[in-house]
Amino acid sequence: MTRGMRPEQVWGIGLTNEAEMAISKALGTGYVLRNWPAGSSPGERDIARATPLVVFVVKEAWDALPPATRLGIEEWEIPQRVLVLGASQSVADFEEVLENGFLSAISEPLTDKKVRDVIFRAKEVKSLYDDIFRMTREIMLERELLARKTDLVLFLNRILSRASESLDPSVILDNAREDLQLLLPLNALMGAFWQTGDSGTLEAELFLEPDMDQSAEQHWTEQLLRQAAKIAGKPMHSYRASFLEGSPNREPVGIPSVPEELITLPLRAGGQMFGLLVLYRAKGRALGKDQVQALYASVNHLALALKNAALFSQVKIRADHDALTRIHNRRAFDERFIDELRRHQRYHHPMSLLMVDIDHFKGINDRFGHLIGDEVLREVGSILSGTLRSTDFTARYGGEEFVVILPQTTEEQSRILAERLRAIIAGARFAHDGEAFCITVSIGAATLQPGSLTKRKELLEKADKALYQAKHLGRNQVCTALGPVTRTDEAAYEAVEAG
Ligand code: GH3
Ligand code: MG
Ligand code: MG
Repeated sequence: MTRGMRPEQVWGIGLTNEAEMAISKALGTGYVLRNWPAGSSPGERDIARATPLVVFVVKEAWDALPPATRLGIEEWEIPQRVLVLGASQSVADFEEVLENGFLSAISEPLTDKKVRDVIFRAKEVKSLYDDIFRMTREIMLERELLARKTDLVLFLNRILSRASESLDPSVILDNAREDLQLLLPLNALMGAFWQTGDSGTLEAELFLEPDMDQSAEQHWTEQLLRQAAKIAGKPMHSYRASFLEGSPNREPVGIPSVPEELITLPLRAGGQMFGLLVLYRAKGRALGKDQVQALYASVNHLALALKNAALFSQVKIRADHDALTRIHNRRAFDERFIDELRRHQRYHHPMSLLMVDIDHFKGINDRFGHLIGDEVLREVGSILSGTLRSTDFTARYGGEEFVVILPQTTEEQSRILAERLRAIIAGARFAHDGEAFCITVSIGAATLQPGSLTKRKELLEKADKALYQAKHLGRNQVCTALGPVTRTDEAAYEAVEAG
């Protein structure tokens, strides 16, 4: 026996003293023989924990075993049973027994050779069993790994294909929230992207869950901006918030009670961080290694789709907006104008158009320089877009000329509004090198009555003509096709607002 190795167990059931001694002698060192002489039998615990290499069983003792004990031994896989026959018994008499799972039979006298032969065969069988066991376990393990990998691939494939269905970040994030639920229960998923603006500062776009109350919305806005600043390495200079789709049976998202419920995942594409996702987990178990791996892989997939969507929306914004004033450009106006005319014809609402032109703008450039001229253009753009309703549409038409589409606005309303805009611009103060100055605008307004089939060009021409008239009559005033607008209209407007 090698030192440190446990001796191999060999059992006997019903062996005589003589047989026990013969077997022990043949086994030599490295083996321990445990015998239950006739009339006794192994207990339930012995059988359940049995690890003998061989059990030598005397036929009579086998027959005398309690049926449960016999059944227990018959169900063993590794320990081999060997039938011990008396000198006068022949193997042929016991063929039936042997068929019931005995490895072999040996007859007395039990010589060393017979015993060692049995042990040798039992060892061979055992090593065969061990090999089969090991191989089976390996196959099962492989199968399990393969199944998990297949699940992961299917999951990632679903994430990726759904993410590439749209170029709208809100839709991509909505789908991602739904898909990631398969991985871990989520209360919410929100995101932030950032990009560097003209002045080198960071501008963020936040995607928030819909229908939150005011404090939750503020909490999440701050949370996203804080995390974005941390990942980007500098604070967000400005931000815009959009809302994801809500589903009717979802509770509005609240504020997480502990920070552990939040998982922040940076979004990376082309070696650059451009955004982040925040997952608000529902209470549940900690994530397993596989889940974490799947989560990271899916966020990498999502990052590519989201980067595409972000680039697409940037390109679209650039194509639709004027670089100087940041309001819509003429191209966007032309598109919107057609849409609004269609709506006007379908719903029979009135619709108005304003053309706004800065008075003597050339003089401003000449006096203060083009940079100040640019500043004035930006300010006028911002007054126009900031004063109007969100359904109104303001664009820089070209040079120092702006246009405003006023859907569902009557002639009278447009006159009042135009006069109000004129007054606000006239009241704005500009300064250059300590010298304060004001500017004025002339506005031409034109209206389409409900149901009229005026052509696009005609409305523009009418507004242009009115603008020309306003200039002609001395500038700093509003004209409609019906003639100049008096300042008392503004007073009427104030009265309506106040009342
Ligand atoms: P009026 O009252 O008749 O409209 O006179 P005006 O001087 O405003 O009109 P005019 O058409 O003679 O001149 C418009 C000027 O606007 C000329 C042009 O150099 C200037 N301009 C056009 N685009 C820009 C711009 O992007 N930046 C600056 N600073 N000036 C611009
Ligand atoms: Mg002008
Ligand atoms: Mg002009």
